[in-house]
Amino acid sequence: MSTQLHELGVAELGEALAAGRTSSVEVTRHLLGRVAAATGLGAFLVVDAEAALAHARAADARRAQGEPRGALDGVPIAHKDIFVTAELPTTAASKMLVGRGAGSGGYRSPFDAAVVAKLAAAGTVTLGKLNCDEFAMGGSNENSAFMPARNPWDRTRIPGGSSGGSAAAVAARLLPAATGTDTGGSVRQPASLCGVTGIKPTYGRCSRFGMIAFASSLDQAGPIARSASDCAALLQAMSGFDARDATSAEQPVPDFAAALHTPRAGASGSKPLAGLRIGLPKEFFGTGVAADVNDAVRAALARCAELGAALVEVSLPRTELSIPVYYIIAPAEASSNLSRYDGVRYGHRAANASDLLDLYRKSRSEGFGAEVKRRIMIGTYVLSHGYYDAYYLQAQKLRRMIADDFQAAFARCDVIAGPVAPTVARPIGSQTDPVAEYLADIFTLPASLAGLPAMSLPAGFGEAGLPVGLQLIGNYWQEAALLHAAHAFQQATDFHLRAPEGC
Ligand code: GLN
Repeated sequence: MSTQLHELGVAELGEALAAGRTSSVEVTRHLLGRVAAATGLGAFLVVDAEAALAHARAADARRAQGEPRGALDGVPIAHKDIFVTAELPTTAASKMLVGRGAGSGGYRSPFDAAVVAKLAAAGTVTLGKLNCDEFAMGGSNENSAFMPARNPWDRTRIPGGSSGGSAAAVAARLLPAATGTDTGGSVRQPASLCGVTGIKPTYGRCSRFGMIAFASSLDQAGPIARSASDCAALLQAMSGFDARDATSAEQPVPDFAAALHTPRAGASGSKPLAGLRIGLPKEFFGTGVAADVNDAVRAALARCAELGAALVEVSLPRTELSIPVYYIIAPAEASSNLSRYDGVRYGHRAANASDLLDLYRKSRSEGFGAEVKRRIMIGTYVLSHGYYDAYYLQAQKLRRMIADDFQAAFARCDVIAGPVAPTVARPIGSQTDPVAEYLADIFTLPASLAGLPAMSLPAGFGEAGLPVGLQLIGNYWQEAALLHAAHAFQQATDFHLRAPEGC
């Protein structure tokens, strides 16, 4: 069976383990072999085969004793290198965190991030840490200080970002699932460009404890897997209140897996999406979307209508403003969060500094990459005395209005749908204008600013046979509604089952 093990998703693998058709050690070995053969993909920053096999053996022993921790026990995954881990080094794909700590492979955390600990408690086996944009800043993975991750559908193209290594690894069948983080689209956009499924939950659903901070009022963890049902299983384990994160919500966590199969309240008839009103914001279908993406998304929505959903037009009139608003708020928070990397308490320390100020300057100049420096400078500027009211305060007011626009739209629909990204994956190195790169975030930023749950699922294929994602946005704490709709779509389509050639 070992040649097909990588083709199994999370649920199928759980079933195979439960039935004794494979062992965690067998599947872990198999996937480690694939990871080793796929180094050109740039998906992993570090792999620890020995530790992974030790955890796999422990999972097998629990099963042998009839005491598995649940359906995820023994399932191999990997974490975006934004989550700190006690067993593995952490770099946030930045040189800033290399050079301090044991072996200098990266920062050695004394503890696991909350999400990492929760997934470990569920029995998952961590293979390693995944590549991303430096400090999660970017949408292409080109901002990794080490190497760009590549898109398995066409290795000359970006996998998206910032969770590019996570999406590339899942798409290439190196792993059934991975963790990501999403501040302004970093789970959804790479999932879309790599043809896999990802969900960013409501802000406050997953603990941010141990997630290296980028923009704290926006940062959320989220799973990337092949299907909505596999995402549901991961999200279940990742969710829940944590007193160590000041913005963690004391919100009950529903049974996401059960919700996949539960018909909507009030739905009549046998169609799986009967009674679901899908709102299509007219601003998401304008001139800014490439024709191939628009066509694939429209076709997917027509499929939803066949499955019983009603399509209604809605409006999110401040969609365009989400770009300046996000690119003021996120850098402002980043400039504050990244001030801790001063070469003294945290981060790379430059040699031969003449005094303290020189040490700060040299350490930060050497440690941070160009995009991170750009954001620290923008953030410091917009927060500075004299400009605070004009930029930061104004952006905060608009952020509230963007959230209000969603509530007006949700009066007319249950979920909102549209594209994730305006185009399919572009070639690596083809974008040198940072502002043009920021504009491509237009469809993911609004839900982030409002703190709403949103997901990306494979909708079809566009130019050059590259994947196109469909975005679904829900109201607060309505992840189950998104997963339910995505699961119904995936039961009726096979886009999420297609693998890149040779994978
Ligand atoms: N592309 C966006 C940015 O560069 C989003 C990144 C993210 O969600 N971490 O900030």
